[in-house]
Amino acid sequence: MEIAAGIWRVQSGNEVIYALDCSEGCYALVDVGSAREFPKKLEALKECGITPEHIGAVFITHFHDDHCGALAALKEQSPARVVCHRLSVQVPSYCIAVSGISKALADYQVDDGDEVEIGKLSLIAHHLPGHTPDSVAWQLGQDFFIGDITFEWGGVGWMDVHWGSHVGDYRSSLQQLFRLQPRMLYPGHGEPVAMSRELLDKALANLNALAEADGSPIKDLGRPAVRRHSDTPPKTIRLSTALRPQ
Ligand SMILES: [Zn+2]
Repeated sequence: MEIAAGIWRVQSGNEVIYALDCSEGCYALVDVGSAREFPKKLEALKECGITPEHIGAVFITHFHDDHCGALAALKEQSPARVVCHRLSVQVPSYCIAVSGISKALADYQVDDGDEVEIGKLSLIAHHLPGHTPDSVAWQLGQDFFIGDITFEWGGVGWMDVHWGSHVGDYRSSLQQLFRLQPRMLYPGHGEPVAMSRELLDKALANLNALAEADGSPIKDLGRPAVRRHSDTPPKTIRLSTALRPQ
């Protein structure tokens, strides 16, 4: 269903993806969901008037299978180019079981501050690691598509240090998200939510409760994500809305 001008929210199971109108009959997705749920997503997209051949790009929020497991299936039916964070394709081999992306599926890799233009849209990648090393919030105007960074109820994404979660990164990413002054947050599970100080405080409290719990395996463990090198300036990637190979 269209939840804002040119933004559709599509849910199946507990997975939420978004479709964006890029103009000229071209659409972009933010995440694509798992392979298991993909047929239902396609049906739901069709009900919104969006068919695979009109999907020109997919913006990935992080490597988890419930966000990008259907990429291979989508690419078989659509000209979509996949844009993800550079760390999404450097997932350690022990994470492959939960990963839905690979180097072969990623057409463009971005880093913090990079911008991607497609049709009338311009999305900025904000690297906000913590839930995973590659977590990205995609900024479209004042709206942010945030994957599993936080949720309507102030929850935080599932944490496992063996799969790249990091409490310190997570804490600074939540604070950074607030500083970016989003208007609306569009998460990968549940309903959209307006950003507020209260939401930030809830998310930080939930993260702390997880980290401080007796016997918590996540406190002070894991490695912080590798940040952008300060000597490499952000880049702009321009994607055509033409839906055939060029
Ligand atoms: Zn996740």
